[in-house]
Amino acid sequence: MSKEDMMWDLSQLVTSADPTSIQNQLDSMVAEAGKMRTQYHGKIHSLDPKGVLKLLETKDALFLKCEGTYKYCHLMYSANSTDDVAKKLNDAARRALMKAQQALAFVDLELGKLLAKAPSVVTDPVLAEYRHYLERIVRRVPHMLSETEERLVITKDKNGVDAWEMLQSDWLSTRTFEIEIEGKKKTLPYGEIIGLYRNPDRDLRKRANQTVYKGLGEDDILWASAIRAVCEDHLQMCELRKYPTPMTQSLIANDVDQQTIDSLMKTITRNVDLYQKYLRLKAKLLGLSKLANYDIVAPLPHVAKMDFNWKNARKEVADAYSGFDEEIGGWIDEMFEKRHIDAAVRKGKTSGAFCSSWLAGKTAYILQSYNMNIGSVYTLAHELGHAVHTYLGSRAQKPSNLQVSMCAAETGSIFGELLLTEKLLSKAKTKEEKQAILATILDDFGMTVFQVSARVFFEQSMYDAIKRGEFLDGKAVAKLWTAARNKIYGDSVDWLDVMMWEWTMKPHYYFANFRFYNYPYVFAQLFVFALYRLYKEQGKRFVPKLKKLLAAGSSKAPKELAAEVGFDITDEKFWEKGMKQAEEFIGMLEKAL
Ligand SMILES: [Zn+2]
Repeated sequence: MSKEDMMWDLSQLVTSADPTSIQNQLDSMVAEAGKMRTQYHGKIHSLDPKGVLKLLETKDALFLKCEGTYKYCHLMYSANSTDDVAKKLNDAARRALMKAQQALAFVDLELGKLLAKAPSVVTDPVLAEYRHYLERIVRRVPHMLSETEERLVITKDKNGVDAWEMLQSDWLSTRTFEIEIEGKKKTLPYGEIIGLYRNPDRDLRKRANQTVYKGLGEDDILWASAIRAVCEDHLQMCELRKYPTPMTQSLIANDVDQQTIDSLMKTITRNVDLYQKYLRLKAKLLGLSKLANYDIVAPLPHVAKMDFNWKNARKEVADAYSGFDEEIGGWIDEMFEKRHIDAAVRKGKTSGAFCSSWLAGKTAYILQSYNMNIGSVYTLAHELGHAVHTYLGSRAQKPSNLQVSMCAAETGSIFGELLLTEKLLSKAKTKEEKQAILATILDDFGMTVFQVSARVFFEQSMYDAIKRGEFLDGKAVAKLWTAARNKIYGDSVDWLDVMMWEWTMKPHYYFANFRFYNYPYVFAQLFVFALYRLYKEQGKRFVPKLKKLLAAGSSKAPKELAAEVGFDITDEKFWEKGMKQAEEFIGMLEKAL
């Protein structure tokens, strides 16, 4: 496999890769958005259903026309941020996108007003294709303020909650920590020292945790001020915007309802024993009587000898998907053949991994830094699952119907991870291999479903405390965090005392105007485990159902999507199905001890 095969080819996104021509295309994108503004601004209130259809189709067509050029600039920069041409083009593309978005921001606002006045437009048969898109706008309307107030809110936020969010993030990223590694004293920035949490050396993991959280705890005045300001601001905005609970805003954004999330969280609470059982098994695998907090995601001591060079990884992942469905397998092949994956490790490349859809091309691009280990193969399978979601969605839906809720957006990707698990387990020869595969999937499940749930309980408890009139200083916040954490972990893990400061570093708690960032992850993971369970029960009959669900994009709410495969997500029984699948994996791990 040549190095070329591990680098993507972005040329398909544009008609010409000449920077001048790209700049011209970006300029024309802004011009076209301006033209649309002239055509529609202030006039949407008088449109009939046919007129609304024309408006939405024009907006979608404009998106498809401009998407490739913007993606080209953005992806080129992600893969090579030190390249001067990429830097310039990315900057130009971002500016162009911002201008186009600003020019078209009025569309949803004016549509909201029209729909509030004439609700029958939503259900007009002419607009059947956009029905759920319009329903989502209608749900937001009662919480919008007047234009002047909205403008004031933006100004207030800029130097208010946005500034607190930025302070938290800047403060964290500029902290340094001293630690001794192999006899040498080192000073590491936060982003680097956290890499030691997964080091095979237990003592080093412990010292890294101790050093980081002790250091963070010393600034508790700052973290507490920030988190308090962000939460209090949210509560006051909920009052102004008439949100009945602090979670409502996120429910609307995620296209779900309170009853569903309540059922989900109750299922988590009822199943903490299951997670604790896994943690006790993991202690055994690590040769410990009990896990400490720095062992929860530790690697297993006997690393199985599995050769995951790029060629093998491609084969395993492609086989996993083709075993499920030939057409999907064909798309996975296409992703490799057309070189839509940038997997090479190089300097200047964005860290982490992502899948970026290209709707006009009915395909996607993937970026990751492939490291030849089992985690990397899982990342590849995960991102390809996102690509499959795009392949199906872009063939069936307009761009407006592909703004998938965070709760459903991980359906293809996590399902792909489970297909890979099945594939790898079927080939595993030794018990060490089986342990490595099962621990990978279960570590991830545990973190996403249970540890993240602790964060949901924690966030809720902060709003409750503020409403009771309590003052949240650092110690008080830490108490709420450890209470939420202990609800999940019970006595299955020993925590360093300094772990009471764990809440200080999670950026999610500080995101301005974006609260309860956490439960969609819990939702997504358990949702897909339940779907996978159904696949195991129904076999091939299930395949078209999953494809239909993915192809629906955001044209239906997650609740409707689930109903079509026969599930009621407001019912705890549905979520239990996901737990059953986890239980089965844990049982398999127990046998492989
Ligand atoms: Zn994902």
